Amino acid sequence: MQQLVQGIHHFQHVGFREREQLFRRLKSGQQPEACLITCADSRIVPNLITNSEPGQLFIVRNVGNLVPCYGTSNNGELAAVEYAVTALGIQDLIVCGHTRCGAMQAVVDSAAGEDSGRLPSVQNWLRHADATREIVRAHYGHLKGVARVNAAAEENVLVQLEHLRTLPVVAANLSSGRIRLHAWMYKMDTGEIFQYEAETGQFVKFGDVSVQSGSRVSTGGRTGR
Ligand SMILES: [Zn+2]
Repeated sequence: MQQLVQGIHHFQHVGFREREQLFRRLKSGQQPEACLITCADSRIVPNLITNSEPGQLFIVRNVGNLVPCYGTSNNGELAAVEYAVTALGIQDLIVCGHTRCGAMQAVVDSAAGEDSGRLPSVQNWLRHADATREIVRAHYGHLKGVARVNAAAEENVLVQLEHLRTLPVVAANLSSGRIRLHAWMYKMDTGEIFQYEAETGQFVKFGDVSVQSGSRVSTGGRTGR
């Protein structure tokens, strides 16, 4: 904890003062550009990997970047998305998974029949990734280790986008074209972010649109299907 306490002091005396004008402006309210749903993994720092500032991203985090379907009780993710779209007027919703995800490792393990009984609450939460587990079981048996985990992470992002569509506030605003959904993958080995491209069914690196189809994915997933 000592490093964190030192960091707090440093921020108050240096970081905050460097952005004093920004923080003064943010006192009157927030107008974030996007809602980012991502994993709780400490190795993902959304503002760092998107080079964004306080006030730019409305961030929702949980284990495995999951979005429980509509009708699930005490759905905090639904509350956050509803607030983002209705109260803040956010038009872009992003689900961002990542390589080497511990939650996806657990999903892959359960697809292989391994029990993670030591973590009953995690196991219960990961039921929102049941479809991911079945896709892994059906299509990725030929992949091993990290490649299989990364494939699960890619498929999971797409599964969670489908769950997002079940939320009434998302369905209504999608049908009127007021909001857009995005699937991202963060490759932590290189710091690259890939965006899902529906036309090709692949994840494409940002800034890499001219790359030939077939060489686009390098997080280890959908090309292996
Ligand atoms: Zn993760």
